[in-house]
Amino acid sequence: MTLAHFLDGLRCATCHTLNVLRLDPVRALVECAECGQTALILTDPDERRSL
Ligand SMILES: [Zn+2]
Repeated sequence: MTLAHFLDGLRCATCHTLNVLRLDPVRALVECAECGQTALILTDPDERRSL
């Protein structure tokens, strides 16, 4: 089963490949189909850089 949706017009921040980011609504993250990089979806406008 495939719940993920590809996000058009977005580029992976790690491998810089375009249109390979998949949105996973279940885990609320974005995964790159090319390099496997994942990132949480941040909806808070007051994003804090803690890393
Ligand atoms: Zn990537």
